[in-house]
Amino acid sequence: MTEAAPGAEALMPWFPVTLRMDSAASALVVGGGGIAANKVALLATTEAAITVLSPDLNAELVRLVARGRISHDPVPVSREVLGKHLPGKRLVFAATNDRAVNRLVAEMARGMNIPVCAVDDPDPSTFITPAIVRRPPVLVAISTAGAAPVLARRLREQIESLLPAQLGRMARFMQRLRPAVAALHPVAETRRRVWERFLDGIGSEQALAGDEAGARLTLEREARGETGSGEVWLVGAGPGDADLLTLKALRLMQNADSVLYDHLLPPEILERVRRDAERVFVGKQRSDHALPQPAINDELIRRARAGERVLRLKGGDPFIFGRGGEEIEALMAADIPFRIVPGISAANGCAASAGIPLTHRDCAQSCLFLTGHARADGTLDLPWDTIARRGQTVVIYMGLGGIAMLCERLMRHGLPPDWPAAVVEKGTQPDQRVVVGDLRSLPEQVMAEVFRSPSLIIVGEVVRHRVVSRSVSPDVTAGTGGGPPEVV
Ligand code: SAH
Repeated sequence: MTEAAPGAEALMPWFPVTLRMDSAASALVVGGGGIAANKVALLATTEAAITVLSPDLNAELVRLVARGRISHDPVPVSREVLGKHLPGKRLVFAATNDRAVNRLVAEMARGMNIPVCAVDDPDPSTFITPAIVRRPPVLVAISTAGAAPVLARRLREQIESLLPAQLGRMARFMQRLRPAVAALHPVAETRRRVWERFLDGIGSEQALAGDEAGARLTLEREARGETGSGEVWLVGAGPGDADLLTLKALRLMQNADSVLYDHLLPPEILERVRRDAERVFVGKQRSDHALPQPAINDELIRRARAGERVLRLKGGDPFIFGRGGEEIEALMAADIPFRIVPGISAANGCAASAGIPLTHRDCAQSCLFLTGHARADGTLDLPWDTIARRGQTVVIYMGLGGIAMLCERLMRHGLPPDWPAAVVEKGTQPDQRVVVGDLRSLPEQVMAEVFRSPSLIIVGEVVRHRVVSRSVSPDVTAGTGGGPPEVV
């Protein structure tokens, strides 16, 4: 009838601590193989002196010992030898492949009250090592108390991807500024709120990026209770597959106050933006501009001035046919701080997911990215002689509407009618379609199959080198081989 009281979980025989391993400390590793090498490498991230006890060393240990700082005693392990090495050690690893030897080391170390870990053998051990995520001085340790090391490793991978690479930079910045903030706010509770606001605001991004002056200014403002100015983050969201977002893009998506996005972004990506962030659609469908470019620029500036962290999320890469350059120029003119995060462009994404290499040593030494977006009067003013060349791949963005004209120009300027070409619609997305053909056939094929935007055209002999992985698209056959046009 009675339920277990909250907090009445099983008592743990393990307690996590962070041990001081400074230059006054020394550690012993018994063993000369791969496991011992791992422990030595781990210890070598501390200041402690390290001794390795083993008649032989593997190549990795030889390399570590050769770097200095680590001493090696090449004698066989015995009670006598251990009696000489153990006293005074702060930590001991028993890491030979002989369980009996490891247990001897553990028993003797325990007798001297020295923390000891016999690897893969928790019973005689007085400590076990956790899986570690290192962002010095930040350390995250994950322990399953030896129950499931593989689970611990998996958790470590997940945490690795969550924590910014430069987290240590931020921690050091906060450490340096602690005395100043403490002087300004003697009450702990207010001080805590200042730091929390700092971490939630643009200051943390500034500190992560190494912009110490900017971060300091933001913190000072926040410490004085002023609202800081905002910032614009121009972020590439990749070609549509949410798993192709960069870690940095994801982090900024989680921190933004508002997001300005256009039609290229599928809902799966928008879903990953922080739930409370205000979503502003700014359009950009061909000839159906929800907001003209100058109005987008103004909106970015207005929001940043109001103190918002504004995310300008773009399909693909912001600097590849993304008008990112124009937006940045407007921000610079208005003196608004900004950050640019690259994304996987449609060319890279579509090439990979359609299995078409962009360069190939046999047939494509260069690759050209081109816009096929015709002017209002329907003309396409491009240097056709440079484009219609063998030995290169031509990737055409925004070319679907003008595909007939594009193919015709390429043929008129020298490429043969059977020159390979492909169109990838909604590349990297679950409903991606690929049509493979040549310059003569392609316009009719995409018409027949009713291809829509976003579609990318890839022209060149690389199309013949198309590879299709069975695990990706089971119903596709590879190559064009001059056979019938293929729609996937
Ligand atoms: N900045 C973007 C390109 C914007 S221009 C980038 O780097 O990818 C818009 C054009 O990109 C579309 O007309 C289409 O040609 C191409 N495109 C973008 N995403 C695509 C996708 N998932 N599949 C095919 N083409 C895509």
